[in-house]
Amino acid sequence: MTSRYLSTSQLAGLLKVGDMMIPGDNELAPFSESGSVEHVDRMLEFMTDSDRQGVKLLFAMFCFMPTILVRGIMTLADRKQHLPGLLGAPLRMINIGVKGVVMSLYYSDVGDAGIYDVMGWTPKVVERPDEEVSQPGSGAGDAGAEGRAAGVSEVLPKPPPRSLVPEGASAAESAMALARAGAAALGRLSVAERVSYIASLREIVLRRREEIIDRIQQDTGKSRSDALMSEIYGLLEALVWLEKEGPTLLADRKQHTPLTMMGKTSWTWYQPLGTVLIISPWNYPFIQALQPIATALLTGNTVVYKPSEHTPLEGLIEDLLAEAQVPPSWVQIVYGTGTVGAALIDAKPDKVFFTGSTKTGRRIAARAAKLLVPVELELGGKDAMIVFEDANIDRAAAGAAWGALTNTGQSCTSVERLYVQESIYEAFKARLLEVTEQIVQEVDEDGDADIGAMTVDFQTKIVAKHIEDAKTKGAEVICARPWDGKSKLIPPMVVDRVSADMSIAGEETFGPVIPLVPFESEEEVVRLANDSEYGLTASVWSKDLDRARRVGRALATGGVSINNVMLTEGNPALPFGGVKNSGFGRHKGEHGLHGFCNVKSVLVDKDSDKIEANWYPYTAKKYRLFDDMMTSLFGKGLLRLIGFARAGLKLESYSNKAGREGRGTRL
Ligand code: NAD
Repeated sequence: MTSRYLSTSQLAGLLKVGDMMIPGDNELAPFSESGSVEHVDRMLEFMTDSDRQGVKLLFAMFCFMPTILVRGIMTLADRKQHLPGLLGAPLRMINIGVKGVVMSLYYSDVGDAGIYDVMGWTPKVVERPDEEVSQPGSGAGDAGAEGRAAGVSEVLPKPPPRSLVPEGASAAESAMALARAGAAALGRLSVAERVSYIASLREIVLRRREEIIDRIQQDTGKSRSDALMSEIYGLLEALVWLEKEGPTLLADRKQHTPLTMMGKTSWTWYQPLGTVLIISPWNYPFIQALQPIATALLTGNTVVYKPSEHTPLEGLIEDLLAEAQVPPSWVQIVYGTGTVGAALIDAKPDKVFFTGSTKTGRRIAARAAKLLVPVELELGGKDAMIVFEDANIDRAAAGAAWGALTNTGQSCTSVERLYVQESIYEAFKARLLEVTEQIVQEVDEDGDADIGAMTVDFQTKIVAKHIEDAKTKGAEVICARPWDGKSKLIPPMVVDRVSADMSIAGEETFGPVIPLVPFESEEEVVRLANDSEYGLTASVWSKDLDRARRVGRALATGGVSINNVMLTEGNPALPFGGVKNSGFGRHKGEHGLHGFCNVKSVLVDKDSDKIEANWYPYTAKKYRLFDDMMTSLFGKGLLRLIGFARAGLKLESYSNKAGREGRGTRL
């Protein structure tokens, strides 16, 4: 047996610890006899160099350690939560690293219940029936206004086994029931075990990227580079972050306990909510499917996912998840229009994670409110870019062109208002026009185009309407190439002399259009930028970082990039979300991860015979003692803690006695 990455002694260490974890039984061979180490190699291949070195060192040490010591370390690593931070952290790493590598072999065979038993997990793996049924929507929705893309059928999920869904359930209820049925098994897995699915998904997406980009282009018409950089690279970066940070951020966390609660410990536990409904828009159909799905799975939630009817990527997400061995019941994908989305909300998920327009966000919030289902809304934007006179004009103009035109302007955080300080306005405009004229537009096959086409006709019409309105009200529209007002290949446009009454100034345009507005002072530009119903992100450009930070703080937005554009969402460690009509809640980063959790508060008291001071009986004496303790604790002066200790001891002793002997107790 050989490994591409492990030396003979490291391999021996792996087999030793592997046999300890998977000793084998009647049905299953022990780890060392289970075949090649190909899967372990595959896992090691995708580790960072430093992680791989760490694991290799560990296995080399295991090789030379007596078995009893290795067993002791692994037992301790399993109980890491009971150990103090400094000791717990390395043990946590050992636990994750060793389990991840040893189990990688077994994740490749989800159907084998014997393997799950070894892992201490017996999921109910639900077989998908062979037949696919096309049914009309459940009829529960009131949102039938949205159109349907040609050729996209409302394919509802394959029906789950009868035993899992109530008699007479609608298709939406069936999907929800099937996802719920998978929730217990997923929730029982450790975070490290869930991470292995995310790692596997990442590896598959990386390997199959060209085919995925083909599919994204077919549905959206975007340029190949747009698909590669935003949807594939963006997703891989996000998945790596989940894998690396998830185990720490989802581990039980010790919290501060007040002095008066001496002897107790306080914790937060990050537990799954259950089943999350994810509803996505059409502009980034791949990353906006898999990023929230991966976040939900990592936090232990099963998913019902409804893609946009305009860019369903039909079958692709199912295919990738199946290859990553994600059991079918963990992610149900339901195709259809808003009517189907509404019916899924009525099926009462444990959370709705919605990305889409403000108009639909309002409907969803109202519908979910009736059932008290929590919602997170990632909605539209009208993002401002503010360029001060000391900014580097070439760089800022290049940034503005990319920020406004990437994905053909169909990004919620596109630059939709470009404020440039008066003194550099003309020079900046000239440079911006040069840059936009050079933009190559094509639904290309080799990555040699900057932007592609608009995805949907109705958005193309909105862009045409905004341009017409701006022209009528006196704006100058400078277009890189002629446009007939109909083609989905809308060329980049710079709009000069924009006034506040134009729809292009206030409404989301969502196309390759850059409205330019001059400003004189810092105060003026902050007022102009904040004069919007939206508040997603913004960018501020200036060499004076104090000024840039000051303006950044003054902007009413969920994020701000300084001397860069659309970059807060590029970092998966940063929370993403808006204020005002751009929605609420935060996706990504620690806040986003915890948004998919039931953050449970836990207070552990040791098992004593003490009667607490705040329990009955309440007497005049206790009142005085409590008051003494409280005024010492929260008062001023160096001796207050001595006063607090004295009063606290008296109160404790009296409360104990009074709790047993009743109100007449004397101290
Ligand atoms: P949309 O609101 O029309 O549709 C989004 C999704 O909601 C679709 O899947 C649709 O079928 C579904 N839907 C529609 N009505 C529904 C209802 N009543 N109940 C349940 N589901 C319903 O948005 P869109 O046109 O697909 O996407 C463009 C919008 O998304 C833009 O406003 C853009 O700014 C926004 N967006 C926001 C973010 C963000 O993170 N803030 C990211 C991308 C896009």
